[in-house]
Amino acid sequence: MSGELVLYNTLTRTKEPFAPLEPGRVRIYSCGPTVYNRQHLGNLRTYLFPDLLNRTLRYFGYPVRHVINITDVGHLTSDADSGDDKMEKAARETQTSAWEIAAKWTAVFRADLAKLHFREPDVWCKATDHIPQQIEMIRALEAKGFTYRTGDGIYFDTAKDPHYGELARLDLAAQAASGRIEHASEKRNPSDFALWKLSPPSAQRQMEWDSPWGRGFPGWHIECSAMSVEYLGKTFDIHTGGADHIPVHHPNEIAQSENALGVRPWVRYWMHTGWLMFEGEKISKSTGGSVLNLDELIAKGFEPLAFRYFALGGHYRQQLTGRRPPGGGWCATPRSCAATPATAARSRPRRCARASAKRSPTT
Ligand SMILES: [Zn+2]
Repeated sequence: MSGELVLYNTLTRTKEPFAPLEPGRVRIYSCGPTVYNRQHLGNLRTYLFPDLLNRTLRYFGYPVRHVINITDVGHLTSDADSGDDKMEKAARETQTSAWEIAAKWTAVFRADLAKLHFREPDVWCKATDHIPQQIEMIRALEAKGFTYRTGDGIYFDTAKDPHYGELARLDLAAQAASGRIEHASEKRNPSDFALWKLSPPSAQRQMEWDSPWGRGFPGWHIECSAMSVEYLGKTFDIHTGGADHIPVHHPNEIAQSENALGVRPWVRYWMHTGWLMFEGEKISKSTGGSVLNLDELIAKGFEPLAFRYFALGGHYRQQLTGRRPPGGGWCATPRSCAATPATAARSRPRRCARASAKRSPTT
């Protein structure tokens, strides 16, 4: 394929001609799900973008190496490093083990992607399989003076990194002044984040490991930095994720990687997917009525590929909104029921919903 491929880069907020770091191959890392429950339709929309990107790069003649991670430990209910570990909380609520929860929802997630004809990545990697690599990266940051210890763990000191938050255009001074961001009381700065959390002294976690700092578990962000090094090297071409990763998770990944590895920029292009909205609200457990996951959509008479068609009907960076038209119903097309491809629909939906695309606030 001849012609120039141009990609929008969140880092620069501009469209840039694409050129791989190493001629002849493209390396992509996509932040994957936290597997404490089923991924809903909004999550699945996020993963259809790296699939589209992978296929587009191959169409342009690039061999692609694509890595997706599975977060199966360390993602707390609050992004501010407080609250429960989502995996352990789900295990308690269902009276099973965190390991069983992770295995179950990972399998369901991958089955959902297969139903959507998602092109399998070259590597699926999960956080619990890479604890030594995460410890090694934290030790590298510690040796360079980027960490400090609190009562509950080892934290990254964002004040030590003059480039911290550039991806998100964070105003750290305003954060500190307003105190708007809830944070653990022992943090030096609101934007500091956990690299290693210590197990509570009074309770035994299901998932915990020994480390140079004590028994505990890795913070959420360090897994992506450590696993991308493992499978893609110290730098790579494209990093994808949902737009909700722009303010916290991705700035933290950048800070860890650039300072531990001594490279900058760590990643050349950052690409983020807009949310799937329903009736004006982000799709989550509390919205979207009963049409929440792929099986429920299938039960309503839709082919999974109809959802793929729906999701690709809006620009990946834009917010895609589903609406119930007067009379109710659903239809997997951004314009009208009539546009549903016959090949994608197992049976013609009796009812119709429409989708519209709205420009993302990050564009
Ligand atoms: Zn990540």
